[in-house]
Amino acid sequence: MLHRAANEIPTIPDRLRDLATLASNLWWSWSREGRGLFREIDLLVWRQTRHNPIEMLRRVDPERLAECANDPAFVDRYDQVMAELRATLDRQHTWFGTTQGDLADRTIAYFCAEFGLHTSVPIYSGGLGLLAGDHCKTASDLGVPLVGVGLMYTRGYFDQRVGPSGWQEDSDEALDPALTPLVPVLDADGAPALVTVRAFGRDIAVGAWKVMAGAVPIYLLDTDLDRNDPDDRGLTHRLYAGGPDLRLRQEWLLGAGGVRLLRRLGIHPAAWHANEGHATFMLVERLRESMVDGMTWDDALASVRATSVFTTHTPVAAGHDQFAHDETADCIGPVWEEMGVDRDTLLSIGNHPEDGQVFHMTAAAIRLSGHVNGVSRLHGAVTRDVWHHVWPDRDRENVPIRHVTNGVHLATWMANPMMDLLDGVIGPDWGTRRHEPDVWRGIFQLDDEALWNVHQWLKQEFLEYVREDTRRRWRDRWPEPARVAGAGVLLGPHALTIGFARRFATYKRADLPFRDADRLRRLLTDPRRPVQLVFAGKAHPADDPGKHVLQRVYQYASDPAFEGRVTFLEDYEMHVAHRLVQGVDLWLNLPRPPLEACGTSGMKAALNGVPQLGTLDGWWAEGFTGSNGWAIPRVPTENDDVDAHDAEHMYRVLEEEIVPAFYDRREDGVPSRWVDYMKHALVEAGQHFSGQAMMQQYVQDYYVPCMSSARHAWSMGRADGNRNSAGG
Ligand SMILES: *Cc1c(COP(=O)(O)O)cnc(C)c1O
Repeated sequence: MLHRAANEIPTIPDRLRDLATLASNLWWSWSREGRGLFREIDLLVWRQTRHNPIEMLRRVDPERLAECANDPAFVDRYDQVMAELRATLDRQHTWFGTTQGDLADRTIAYFCAEFGLHTSVPIYSGGLGLLAGDHCKTASDLGVPLVGVGLMYTRGYFDQRVGPSGWQEDSDEALDPALTPLVPVLDADGAPALVTVRAFGRDIAVGAWKVMAGAVPIYLLDTDLDRNDPDDRGLTHRLYAGGPDLRLRQEWLLGAGGVRLLRRLGIHPAAWHANEGHATFMLVERLRESMVDGMTWDDALASVRATSVFTTHTPVAAGHDQFAHDETADCIGPVWEEMGVDRDTLLSIGNHPEDGQVFHMTAAAIRLSGHVNGVSRLHGAVTRDVWHHVWPDRDRENVPIRHVTNGVHLATWMANPMMDLLDGVIGPDWGTRRHEPDVWRGIFQLDDEALWNVHQWLKQEFLEYVREDTRRRWRDRWPEPARVAGAGVLLGPHALTIGFARRFATYKRADLPFRDADRLRRLLTDPRRPVQLVFAGKAHPADDPGKHVLQRVYQYASDPAFEGRVTFLEDYEMHVAHRLVQGVDLWLNLPRPPLEACGTSGMKAALNGVPQLGTLDGWWAEGFTGSNGWAIPRVPTENDDVDAHDAEHMYRVLEEEIVPAFYDRREDGVPSRWVDYMKHALVEAGQHFSGQAMMQQYVQDYYVPCMSSARHAWSMGRADGNRNSAGG
C-alpha cells in the first residue's frame, strides 16, 4: 500500500496550499464552487483527466498555478470554498444537529459492498453503489454522523469494451491510489492499522483506506498486503468477479473485518445499517461480539436486532447470495465455538424454506435486523410477499418490512446551469430550503424559453462529449467506420433524443424498442420529426443472456438502415451518466414489472428537467403523476404477453403523444407543451425523490430508534428491543 498523498504535490503555491485538501475530499465534486475552482485552473486538463482534481493538479503547468495564486479574484473564491469545506467538516448548522442534537455524538455505521462516489474511485458497478454514494453525500450535507464501510477493489470493476461483433469484452485496469483521494489508514506510529479475520482456517491481515465524502469517512478494507498468503492478497482485487467461493470470502471480510476495524479505530456505532445482503456478516460478527461479552443467544439476538437496519434491493432471486452450509462453515468457522453455540444453531440464522442446505444472506439479515425495508413502495409490498414465510402466523400486510424509496443526491446530479437557473428564479437559497414544497412550485414561474435554452445547451454539450469520445476511440482502436457511426457521431443536434442507460440485465429489456424493428425504424428516420436513441450500460461478466441483449442493440447501432440514429456508448460509468442524464430529451425505462426494485437514473434525469417514459415499476409506480412523463400501464391480465403489450404501448405513446409534443413549436421554436412536462418532472423529483427526503426518513424511522435503544441498552446493561418476532 505505497502511497503518495495529494498534499505532496510540490507545484502548488503556498497561498493555495489547501487545494490539495480540497482535492482529497470528494465534497468538491458536489460543491458548485469547488468544481468551478478546479475548472478555472485549466479547463482542458480538467476535461482530459475526466474531472480528477488530483491528477489535474499533478499535470497542470506550475506557471498556471502560480498565476492563480496571484489572481485576487481566484484567491477570493478559493478562500470562500475552503471556508465552506471547513463548515461542512465541523457539521455547523445542519439538519441533524438541529433536530437530533443529543444524538450528534453517536455514530451510524453503513456497510455496503460498493460505493459509487466519483469516476476517479472506480469501486462500484451500478445502482447499489451509486445509491450508497448518494447516501453518504446526503448524510454529510445533513450532518448525519454516518461512517461508511466497504471493500477497496484495487482493480475496480471491469472496464467495458465492445468488440466489432457487439460482444462485450471485459478489460481491467489497476487503479492508481495516488490519483485518487484514498489515503491509507495508519496507526499513531505511522504503521498501517490492521485487523485479523480468519477465513478457511487461515488468518488474513486486513488493512484499510479512507476516503472522505464531506464529513463522512468511508473505510475500505484491503487484503493486498505482503504478509498475507498470495491467495489472500487478491481477495479484494475485483468487485463481483469470480465464483461464490470468492464472494463468500469477500463478504466475510467486509462484515467481520469491517466491525473489527471500526472497533480498532475506537468507533462504536449506535446504529448499524447493512445495505443489501452482502453485508450480512456484519450482523453475525456483532452477534459473536455480544456473546463473547457474556450475553445469552437470545439477548445477543435482541441486542443486534434493536440496533440494526437492513435494506434489501431486489426481488430477483439471483440477486440474493446464498452459500452452501459446508462452504459457509469452512469459511467463518469456528466462530460458533467462541459463541458457545453449535454450528447448526449459528447456520440456522440463514435458513431458507426452499433449500435447507444453504446459508441465505438475505434471510439471515432479516432475522438479525429489527428494521427491514425495501426501496420503493411497490418493492416494499413485493418484499413482504417474498419474505412472508419468516412470519408464517402474520398476514402479509403485517409482515414487518417497510420501504424507504430511494432518492438521488441533487447536488451530484443536477447540472450547474440548471442550478444557476433556479438561483435566478427561486432565489440562491433554494438549496437549503428545498424541503419546502413552495420552493419547487416556483419552477412553474420559470420562463419556458429560459428553461428550454438551458436544456438545449446541455444537449449540445452531451453531443459534443459523444463526438470527442468517439474520436478518441476511433483514433486508438477502431478501424471500422460502422463503429464510429454507431457510437454517436451522426446524432443530429435537434432530433428528439432518448436515453436508455442501465445494467444489461434481461428484465430491464433494453431491446424492447427493437421488437418491431421496422416500426422503430420508421419512427427514428422520419425526416421531418427524427428521433434518436442513445444506449449505454454494462452486462455482468457472467451474464451471457444480458450480453446477447447488448449485442443486439449494438448491431442495430451500426446498421445503416437506422441512419445513425441508434447509438451505443461504451463503458458506462458516472462520468458518462452525468452527461447522459443531463443532455437527453427523454429518459426511457422498461423493466418488466415487478422486477425493478426502484431505479434511480430516471430521477437523475428528472432533476435536469428530462421527463420519463417508463413501465409502472419501481419508483415510477409512485412517481408518475400524469404530467411529468408517460407511463406504460401494467398488463390487464396475468396471461397476456407482457413484452408484446408493453412494446405496443411504447410505440403508440411515442408516435401519438411524445413525438407530437416535442415537435409542437411556438413561433420562437420553444415547445411549450414539452417544457411543461419538463417542469413537472423537475418539481416531482426535487420534492419527493431527492437523497434528502430519503435520508430524513432513514434517520427518523430507523436510525433514531436504533440509537435510542442503543442508549437504553447501555444504561440498562442489556438490550430490550425485540421489536420484531422473526423466528429462527
Ligand atoms: C444511476 C446509475 C446507475 C443506476 O441506475 P438505475 O436506474 O438505478 O438502474 C448505474 N450506473 C450509473 C453509472 C449510474 O449513474
